[in-house]
Amino acid sequence: MPIYEYICEDCKNLFSVFQKMGETDTVCTLCNSKNVKKQFSTFSCADSSSDFSNNSMPSGGFGGS
Ligand SMILES: [Zn+2]
Repeated sequence: MPIYEYICEDCKNLFSVFQKMGETDTVCTLCNSKNVKKQFSTFSCADSSSDFSNNSMPSGGFGGS
């Protein structure tokens, strides 16, 4: 189920909603304003970058055998 994040232009409230099929009249959860903007979700980007740093872990270290 798709969840979209919106930010209200009037009161700067950031909220997430379940976007139903064909439903476009999203309103602010605080002030019920329709002056809201859809946000891009950022957590999927952070996921891939942490996976990349895992792959580049050095197998050695400061042990010195
Ligand atoms: Zn609002």
